[in-house]
Amino acid sequence: MTDTAAKTPDTLTFEAEVQSLLDLVIHSLYTNREIFLRELISNASDALDKLRFTALTDAELLPEGDELCVSIERDEEAGTLTIVDNGIGMNREDLMANLGTLASSGTRRFLEELREADAKTRPELIGQFGVGFYSSFMVADKVVVTTRKAGEQEGWIWQSAGGGEYTVEEAAENTQRGTRITLHMQPGEDEQSFLTEWKVREIVRRYSDFIEYPVTMDVTRNEPELDDEGKPVEDGETKEVTSTETLNSMKPLWNRPKAEISAEEYAEFYKHLTHDWNEPAEVIHFRAEGTLEYTALLFIPKERPFDMFDSTQPKSRLSLHVRKVMVMNDCEELLPPWLRFVRGVVDSADLPLNVSRETLQDNPLLKKIQTRLVKKVLEVLDKRRTEQADGYAETWKAYGTILKEGIYMGDDGDNRISKLCLFQSTAGAAATTLAQYVERMGDDQEDIWYLAGNDRSVLESSPHLEAFKSQDWEVLLMLDPVDEWMLDRLSEFDGKTLKNAAGGEGVSTEEDGEALSSMKEEGAPLLTGLGEHFGESIKEVRFSSRLTDSPAVLVTAEGALSPSMQRMMRANGQELPDMPRILEINVTHPLVERLGELRADDAERFADYADLLLGQALLAEGSPPPDPARFSRLVTELMVRA
Ligand code: ADP
Repeated sequence: MTDTAAKTPDTLTFEAEVQSLLDLVIHSLYTNREIFLRELISNASDALDKLRFTALTDAELLPEGDELCVSIERDEEAGTLTIVDNGIGMNREDLMANLGTLASSGTRRFLEELREADAKTRPELIGQFGVGFYSSFMVADKVVVTTRKAGEQEGWIWQSAGGGEYTVEEAAENTQRGTRITLHMQPGEDEQSFLTEWKVREIVRRYSDFIEYPVTMDVTRNEPELDDEGKPVEDGETKEVTSTETLNSMKPLWNRPKAEISAEEYAEFYKHLTHDWNEPAEVIHFRAEGTLEYTALLFIPKERPFDMFDSTQPKSRLSLHVRKVMVMNDCEELLPPWLRFVRGVVDSADLPLNVSRETLQDNPLLKKIQTRLVKKVLEVLDKRRTEQADGYAETWKAYGTILKEGIYMGDDGDNRISKLCLFQSTAGAAATTLAQYVERMGDDQEDIWYLAGNDRSVLESSPHLEAFKSQDWEVLLMLDPVDEWMLDRLSEFDGKTLKNAAGGEGVSTEEDGEALSSMKEEGAPLLTGLGEHFGESIKEVRFSSRLTDSPAVLVTAEGALSPSMQRMMRANGQELPDMPRILEINVTHPLVERLGELRADDAERFADYADLLLGQALLAEGSPPPDPARFSRLVTELMVRA
């Protein structure tokens, strides 16, 4: 950039998305505008954290004796409120990236969701995202940000009236390190009230009490004239005395005894941490003592954060503190990725202050902490499951898919995750756990049966369930697309094997068992005929006693992937070999006899019927026939003939 370019303000436009976010924020959060101050103080505190953290490796950035703090300046006459921090600051690029665009693709997608949401759920959604800096425009008609990044010389001024544009220009030479945000408050009475001392004091107390840095403000009092003994002089003059007061108690919440912390305080801390609008679903606060000392304060959010499946997002949302000092955000060593929805802080006295991501990898202390945290979170989830069924159903809806990743990753020792799973089942509309299923099993049933697919009604009328219905056995309906991946690793629960109702091993009806053995020889030519007709496309044709009404069904051979898994993997661009399936024919169906006759007398009709049989078996399980045009022609011909 040339000097002249730097001196004249550049006028830039907000990204279109920022503008729509601004509009949404301003209109949806109207009744809760005071949170703007919380958001700005949170940002300031983050900026101080960042500076302190960066200074661990570059000590020059933070000269000794330089006290990190946030200060608030009120100017009722000018109508301005200014929030100042001496933290990391921003350079020109930072300003443009942070206060002019929506950085992550997740945010964009989120914005789409937000537009579609109705006015009532909108504030909750916005809450998850964290309106942050942009909330200033709820109360201000102009915002001026003056900032200098730690370690850099030039300072910058960013200004906007929120109307689609902002300017950036170079600031005066001796700009202080850090960021100074001045809000020119809107003229309304309500907005102006945010300039009063008591209001600022109240908001800081309510929302930001536990911020670890002092949040200060100059307070002016009229003090009476005092005599030599320090007593007020009668009829004496009063004079104005200004002093700087710290408005917050600065106690990290997690270090206070649990019994003294109210639900509101936990909720406020949670909101500060996550920017979530809702209260947390669960609070987990404990102190570990003994050889390894640490405190953990974890939260399970009510709703699933919108970016949980964004692979560019961190795989953990816990921050690591060492003796109250934040040393790392999003510390992946503290929880496995399948608990990435848990938010919170861990504070340990046993780690060095200058930890880095590298030194934390394979750190045995963190491994121990992780083991304990996982155990705690799973216990709390299990308790919620047994004690608050409705609340748990919501939690499961939000996080079930993510928790199942843990099973897939092999972390389900003692069924500690699978016991939390809720599944649909043929037993009724209510979801069931595996344990409840096992409890309902009759004496004649040894295994846990499931059928996977994406549509409950298709599964319920699937031929695979016929034998189960005839014996009154319950089958779990696995409707989540990740279930089949999970089942790849979940083969046993409570000593019972999980078996696929669409797999090679079926359940037979007793009467049919006899028919089956008598067909062994008699039906052999029919099976051979069908086998020759289908060739490589079908692995095997065999009689089955698992059907009652349907003439045929396709089952997946041992070790092969189910059709839906194959579809999913192919859709992800994976190349797979053909995995031919097994065609099972209902041994008691009248069609068997008819097919036998045709095979002997009319080769052409036999071929047509064979294709019809296969086509309808595919349709019944929700898959398309291999040649739909031929299939529908055959059906039409059949109808004409009938
Ligand atoms: P969020 O804080 O949720 O990331 P914001 O819109 O509030 O979103 O802020 C966007 C970014 O601007 C922050 O991530 C941070 O990088 C930067 N920022 C905001 N306030 C400050 C500040 N006081 N000092 C330094 N950087 C800041």
